[in-house]
Amino acid sequence: MVALPSADAADTAAHRIDRHGLFQSAEQEDAFVGAQWAELAPRAHTIGLWGGLCFSAGFAADYVTLGAAAPWPALLLTRLLVLGVGLRLAWITRSGAAPDARRLRLWLLVFQFVTLLGLRLVVQLHGHVSPYQVIAAVFSCMVLYGYAPVLRPMQLWMLPAWLVLSLLQMRFALDAPISQIALFAILLGFVNVIGWNLAVHAARSQRNAWMDRRRMHWEIAERITAEQNLRHLFEASPVPLVLASQPHGQILHMNQAALGLLDPQRMLADPALAMAGDFYADAQTRDMLAQALGHHQAFGPVDLRMRDTSQRVVDVMLSARKLRYNGRRAVLVSLVEITHRKRQEHELRRMAHTDPLTALHNRRGFFARAERVRRRPDQAPLALLVLDVDHFKRINDSHGHATGDLVLQQLAGRMASTLRDSDVLARIGGEEFAALLPATNAQQALAMAERLRRAVCDHAVRCQGLRLDLSLSIGVAMFDDERDDIDAVLARADQAMYRAKQAGRNRVQGLHAPTAA
Ligand code: GH3
Ligand code: MG
Ligand code: MG
Repeated sequence: MVALPSADAADTAAHRIDRHGLFQSAEQEDAFVGAQWAELAPRAHTIGLWGGLCFSAGFAADYVTLGAAAPWPALLLTRLLVLGVGLRLAWITRSGAAPDARRLRLWLLVFQFVTLLGLRLVVQLHGHVSPYQVIAAVFSCMVLYGYAPVLRPMQLWMLPAWLVLSLLQMRFALDAPISQIALFAILLGFVNVIGWNLAVHAARSQRNAWMDRRRMHWEIAERITAEQNLRHLFEASPVPLVLASQPHGQILHMNQAALGLLDPQRMLADPALAMAGDFYADAQTRDMLAQALGHHQAFGPVDLRMRDTSQRVVDVMLSARKLRYNGRRAVLVSLVEITHRKRQEHELRRMAHTDPLTALHNRRGFFARAERVRRRPDQAPLALLVLDVDHFKRINDSHGHATGDLVLQQLAGRMASTLRDSDVLARIGGEEFAALLPATNAQQALAMAERLRRAVCDHAVRCQGLRLDLSLSIGVAMFDDERDDIDAVLARADQAMYRAKQAGRNRVQGLHAPTAA
């Protein structure tokens, strides 16, 4: 299989510049002349017009020097020929003329050829080399090397060839003295060497600069296209995306998905006037994000809460990445709404922590709440009660399990209404409850336990037309200090409750003596 050159490699080959400062590829040369016409054409125009006029004006000198002798018609013809070619060159390069690389190349070469040959003819017909002719030769060489755009190698080679021809003419046709020939050779040789180098250097520089400009335009076009593609991706993405400045958080762009999430009622007249910080649910979240982005290039994904323009709280999963945008520091934030997931998680957690029969905390929920309460220093002293329904089995046995359930629900309601809002009541076993009493000392805890006991035993439970007398055995224990383990305190309260059972039930038992019978 033949390996094809890549587009880049082909491009570089086409752009190779030869030792004359010209592109190796003819098409590339034509493209260059076409593209640079506005710069090249006026130069050729000046050379053609003024070169032709100056050369033809030399006829005055011919006439003065040679008089009306025989060679003047030949000189006039030569000078008119150069003028004609010069005017032709000026015409095809006039302002407004369509670029034509091939014609420009041809007529520039023809003009150069007839001028140089004309100079030789003038010298020949004058019969000697005058200082004025030497000046004209030097001047012509300098103009052709330094000012005329180089479009063909022959344009360059023509000048040293012309110098050799001039020297041969001086030596053999005009019989000029050797000193004059040497002077001419040194002067024109010097002009040729310097002129050649300058012309090649200028040609190469022009072409390189043109290529650089083209490459730059191409790169800019590529960058604009890439940016447009990214913008389309950004806009079309179903993931809410926000681009904000750093470190101030001014919103630079928000895609449709982000507007749908953060401004569902389209309250923002101009999203670019909003600040990213306005969308975080609280200052703490905002500060946490600012800090994270201060230390890291990227951040997340992290679950946090935001607030839309109508102040509705939205749960999101947020990822952020720092980048540069239009030369400025920015951060790209992507959001995934997880309100539904959070609600489900919350519901699952609530279910896992709730007793379905009484809607109180279950054992797990009680431990979780108790742990949170215990960690707060303002909740001390902390008391814990274990409450067990006396002879509950009899209710089930006599009236059925369903009645037993209804009784448990009623008892739960009665206990909850007796306790304070700050207390935590839970059903931790079949007919066994626990209550956590924050900011309650031992004496107050015993008093509360007594109130609960009385709330149950003083009023019979009415259920399905039955009147059921019930009582509680209650054990009380205190958290000794904030390091006291909940299990340990619960076990102590449980022991106290069992002592209440042993002591005859329907009573409160602290760690030591029973308080009621
Ligand atoms: P004690 O005074 O010693 O506590 O006697 P008790 O009958 O209350 O204790 P025991 O542990 O012997 O029986 C507890 C009963 O509670 C047994 C069980 O049928 C009943 N029970 C446990 N969970 C439920 C429940 O969810 N619904 C109903 N209806 N009964 C339950
Ligand atoms: Mg019981
Ligand atoms: Mg029990």
